[in-house]
Amino acid sequence: MRDVFAKIQASTTRADAMKRDRTYPYGTVLAERRGPVAVVGGREVIMASSNDYLGLSVDPRVVEGAARAARRYGASCTGAPIMNGTTGIHRELEERLAVFLGREAAVLAPSGFQANLALATLLGRGDTVFADRANHASLVDAARLGFGGHRRYRHADLGHLRRLLEATDPDCGRLIVTDGLFSMEGDVADLPALKRLAGEQGARLVVDCAHDMGLLGPNGRGTPEVQGVAPDLVTATFSKCFGSVGGVLAGDREVVDFLRHHARSLVFSAALPPPSVGAALAALEIIESEPELRERVLGLSARLREGLRAEGFETAGDAPIVPVFVRDDERCRAMWRALLDEGVLVNAVSSPGVPVGGELVRVAVTARHTGEQVDAIVAAFVRARAQMPWRAAMPSSSES
Ligand code: PMP
Repeated sequence: MRDVFAKIQASTTRADAMKRDRTYPYGTVLAERRGPVAVVGGREVIMASSNDYLGLSVDPRVVEGAARAARRYGASCTGAPIMNGTTGIHRELEERLAVFLGREAAVLAPSGFQANLALATLLGRGDTVFADRANHASLVDAARLGFGGHRRYRHADLGHLRRLLEATDPDCGRLIVTDGLFSMEGDVADLPALKRLAGEQGARLVVDCAHDMGLLGPNGRGTPEVQGVAPDLVTATFSKCFGSVGGVLAGDREVVDFLRHHARSLVFSAALPPPSVGAALAALEIIESEPELRERVLGLSARLREGLRAEGFETAGDAPIVPVFVRDDERCRAMWRALLDEGVLVNAVSSPGVPVGGELVRVAVTARHTGEQVDAIVAAFVRARAQMPWRAAMPSSSES
């Protein structure tokens, strides 16, 4: 008889092999964290692996916001928002986020993942979701949970999207879903073109601003602000720029109220804990009043990208997500290990995070890094590459 656990063995064997050769890049334990520095394996390393782009998770005002909320409302709501899980600060955060994002209303979710899963509620039989292939896993899962069809278009290929839309039954409801700032390669969706196409094809447009809310745009409202587009619905998370945890959906009041009462990921799960809400509120205040944090991190990431390019590394995008393409899983993990040994913690990303052949080392800087730390990251890359037996096959500087 077939055992559902049988498939685990292959995965365990593979993980064990990686651990034996010290290239298991997942779940690295941070014994301590001091801003952009962490203690790993008993030594200090530069953290270049978090999504804390503005450095707010360790900002004393954000930490105090969490502590104050815990003292006032407790550590948990122990119930869903529509039962007993809506406190005064939950409502305050929703109202302030709606104003911040320029939308009629907003509803909180326990995580960005669950905010995106809420979209499944919009996908009935006879509807189809059209999704960029590089979208986050939570958007893929939302489509799988819905009762409608699921078509995926090649990354950023709007010609492909148009063909898929045109090939769909005209009576079918259509939802186009895209990340705003893509999480692994750091590139940005073409929202005006998507909005135009959605208008022509009678589709609704949802943009996941997980990585860009708080970071991009004069007011930090994300890719919709930068590109002057109002999607039908925006989703986002507090686990990046807001230095907290939690998710949000924002749009027209009627739509938001529908989701609040019908989306299973919001209705059948305990509300966002008060400390997370308190932290996010404090972060929102800083995001609104300190645009220099955005400028600083964008300046640092430009310095990092230019430094890496000057050394011959292949990178892309123009956000604090700086991908360094290695294009091979094993080499990617070897590079991750060598970088950690050189004092820099990054992320090794392979399938399903990126397509096979697109394996990359993901580097992310925050507003708390110094220029010297950014230069030290570049120097560590050069030293790490010099240790790679296959370095001749990798994009390299002229002298290496
Ligand atoms: N959307 C995107 C694009 C993300 O990158 C992530 C998290 N990595 C999420 C949604 C989920 O956010 P959360 O961490 O709040 O669950």
